[in-house]
Amino acid sequence: MKMEFTRRMPEYVCACGNKLDAATADVNKSPAHGDLSLCCYCGALNQFDENLKLQPVPDDKFDEVIQTVSPSDREDLLKYREMIKKSYQSRMN
Ligand SMILES: [Zn+2]
Repeated sequence: MKMEFTRRMPEYVCACGNKLDAATADVNKSPAHGDLSLCCYCGALNQFDENLKLQPVPDDKFDEVIQTVSPSDREDLLKYREMIKKSYQSRMN
């Protein structure tokens, strides 16, 4: 997964309290309904709704939702999520 393309999006306040107002994705790809997004502050998984606003993915839906992406994207998503979560936890301690 190449991460180079950033677009402004409707402001969203993540569960961690940080405001997100841009999304970075594959080259030449805009967010679409159902696309997943990681909070760059805490690693929370969010999903774009039909209005392209982010919605939190509840913990009990996490495994189901990550099955909707390709195996290589899923591997990347989990790897980046772990890195972000570790960084977030070290900042909180
Ligand atoms: Zn967050």
